[in-house]
Amino acid sequence: MKFTPAQPPIFGETLASLTARLAEAGEPAYRARQVLDWLYKKRATGWDQMTNLPHALRTRLAGLFDFDPSALVSNRQSADVTDKLLLELRDRSLIETVIIRAPQEGVGLDRSRKTICISTQVGCAMGCRFCASGLAGLKRDLSAGEIVHQLIQVCRREDARTARANAELASFDNIVVMGMGEPLHNYDALLRALAILNAEWGLGFGARRITISTSGLVPQIRRLAAEPVGFRLAVSLHGATNEVREQIMPVNRRWPLEELLPAVREFAARHGRMVTLEFILIEGVNDGLDQAGRLRDIALDLHAHVNLIPYNAVEGLPWKRPSAARQQKFVSVLEERDVSVTLRREKGHDIDAACGQLRLKVERDRAAAGA
Ligand code: SAH
Ligand code: SF4
Repeated sequence: MKFTPAQPPIFGETLASLTARLAEAGEPAYRARQVLDWLYKKRATGWDQMTNLPHALRTRLAGLFDFDPSALVSNRQSADVTDKLLLELRDRSLIETVIIRAPQEGVGLDRSRKTICISTQVGCAMGCRFCASGLAGLKRDLSAGEIVHQLIQVCRREDARTARANAELASFDNIVVMGMGEPLHNYDALLRALAILNAEWGLGFGARRITISTSGLVPQIRRLAAEPVGFRLAVSLHGATNEVREQIMPVNRRWPLEELLPAVREFAARHGRMVTLEFILIEGVNDGLDQAGRLRDIALDLHAHVNLIPYNAVEGLPWKRPSAARQQKFVSVLEERDVSVTLRREKGHDIDAACGQLRLKVERDRAAAGA
């Protein structure tokens, strides 16, 4: 499922592809670097700013490429330092990009650690029962340019927020591919986008600061393990036995734990980095101490970090988060054996920060309004 716009976004071009495209138009090779420099180093907001390019070339570029594949339609900031951008694509699809700030003592919010959470698809085909993103299925994949443009939107917003006398450009610390969609279900566009973010001619963002979260597509995990670039991997486990996982994640029927866990082990061995196991705690589903014990054994076996996430309620779905006391009991089972574990404090709860919820709300409003 793809959307093919009349003009592809300029942000989906690599140095090689742009050089080739410009050569076709009779332009010298060095022009591609000049354009990319304007995009990623000088953060130009339009073709007109590219003053070292001849006027005729700027006009030609404007005809070939789309400079604005997404528009910011709303920007909601929660009390707890999460900033959620709702972006509208050219076909009116909506996606979400989230800025999560971790306040640090002694520094202002602008200097706090920032993690950017990006989307890779409109909707999702995986159908996890608890997730707002997958409720209406997959609408389409994002292109590489649409993925990269989310970071450009963040940069623009942050540049404007933090404008200082010395015009220092805003930066961020981590990128997590944990927004809407199953990243490994849109593998080629994702890897192209990450290559652009990572490249010296692009954003120059280190691969080790990029985490890809997957619901567990085994062949793609193995493919990712074989890539030369070492991105970090997070696996949405949410069930420590097939029986429990299957109830909430249909993907487990295709790729049960006995297939998934060896692939995760291979990834960890290949890249020499701890993998993260994500585990949402849902009351009465997967929050029992027997699940905690099994999860502990899996984490010890894989030498993985466990990230426990209290479930964020989704309107229309029956699931609830367990009480704080029950969450704590679950954590204790893992801590007893020194498993590296974090219990995520909710960020952005008040602005529907969990995966896909803000988009769902706006889509429902649009449908109600007949728009
Ligand atoms: N599709 C990928 C990445 C996007 S989802 C994946 O599933 O890993 C990112 C994370 O948010 C996943 O761990 C997902 O299970 C979790 N998630 C989805 N809905 C949630 C909710 N309502 N509350 C808490 N976490 C949720
Ligand atoms: Fe898709 Fe991830 Fe949501 Fe599952 S949790 S439906 S894989 S976005």
